[in-house]
Amino acid sequence: MSNETIFSKIIRREIPADIVYQDERVTAFRDIHPQAPTHILIIPNKIIPSVNDITPEDEGVLGHLFVVAQIIAAQEGIAENGYRLMVNCGRHGHQEVFHLHLHLLGGRDLGPMLAR
Ligand code: AMP
Repeated sequence: MSNETIFSKIIRREIPADIVYQDERVTAFRDIHPQAPTHILIIPNKIIPSVNDITPEDEGVLGHLFVVAQIIAAQEGIAENGYRLMVNCGRHGHQEVFHLHLHLLGGRDLGPMLAR
């Protein structure tokens, strides 16, 4: 499939990744370059390249990403202190991998959201 990225191979377990959660709609794995003690990427198994490519049919799976984020935050022991969920889109958003993903970051005080 032409829109495939390295994340498709992770979903199919064709390359190594530290997968912390997987079901029929979503896969979550630890970021290879963690920016915080917990840094997990939660992705739809279906290829949606970026937020710009979302269609109304994707509402269910995108809602599920957040449900899974809540489950993983509890598993990681960061739910009480809090965490950050982040999605980059396109060039100005510095999106590197064009398979939509939710970053789950936590385990320390993450500071203000953006450098000013
Ligand atoms: P973004 O800039 O939002 O597209 O983020 C892409 C993220 O994917 C970065 O934080 C990378 O460190 C991470 N990443 C890229 N390749 C892999 C991989 N093979 N396994 C885990 N994380 C990866």
